[in-house]
Amino acid sequence: APILSVRDLNLWYDEKQALEDVNFDLFPSEILAFIGPSGCGKSTALKCLNRMHDDVRSVHCTGTITLHGEDIRAPWVDPPMLRRRFGWVAQKPNPFPATIWDNVAYGPRIHGLMRTHADMEAHVEDCLRRAHLWDEVKDELHTKDGTDLSGGQQQRLCIARALSTQPEILLMDEPTGSIDPIATAKVEELMLTLRPDHSVVVITHSMNEARRVADRVAYFHLGRLLEIGPTEQIFTAP
Ligand code: ADP
Ligand code: ADP
Repeated sequence: APILSVRDLNLWYDEKQALEDVNFDLFPSEILAFIGPSGCGKSTALKCLNRMHDDVRSVHCTGTITLHGEDIRAPWVDPPMLRRRFGWVAQKPNPFPATIWDNVAYGPRIHGLMRTHADMEAHVEDCLRRAHLWDEVKDELHTKDGTDLSGGQQQRLCIARALSTQPEILLMDEPTGSIDPIATAKVEELMLTLRPDHSVVVITHSMNEARRVADRVAYFHLGRLLEIGPTEQIFTAP
């Protein structure tokens, strides 16, 4: 069964329609890539999933999104609680101007996820290990700011931060779009290790990246999801 189902999603920015009848499912432990030309609605579709558009007055949205069968667009669903269940990774690494430790411990702290300091220590280490950053930062957790890391390290820190609230789903908006090729390879490699514990929706401009990381690909054009299927099938279609 799908973890997330999107049905008949339509979205307007004022008069301008940005999404038109978008339908797709996300399955457990899969990486789904959104591809398509710039301006086709990929980022808008991603932001709908964790209701990041709720506060934007010009946005009007219709359709249903269910997470484990629960309607998460229902008015009684609390967006901050919902966002805990989705980790967000932006294109440009954006660590908090705070220590490496605080970047990862902040989310679990505000959501009260860890009972003891020892639990928090183990959890911060686990998140940094999953983000393939632990060995590089373990001696500087409390002395170095996240913003003083290299670009690629900052992005892996942002992935550790996204993992810190124990989300089921990670939403990644071109996570390799502003880092160098070596850093990109590291991020792609770690994305593949996020399965089986997480499902991932990732936007990419790179067809090669989609080939390397995605189980399935969704191709957007002019606000419509034109085609979705297994990666090999999408790339070999006539
Ligand atoms: P993509 O991620 O595929 O580049 P977007 O989802 O960012 O596409 O944009 C889809 C369309 O919606 C584009 O025409 C874009 O100009 C428009 N758009 C995106 N964000 C806004 C906004 N905040 N206000 C008005 N129009 C927007
Ligand atoms: P951009 O499209 O240039 O990244 P946005 O206005 O979309 O700018 O986002 C501003 C900041 O808000 C980004 O740094 C991003 O990390 C955060 N953000 C955007 N969308 C979401 C989302 N759906 N969930 C969590 N954070 C988000």
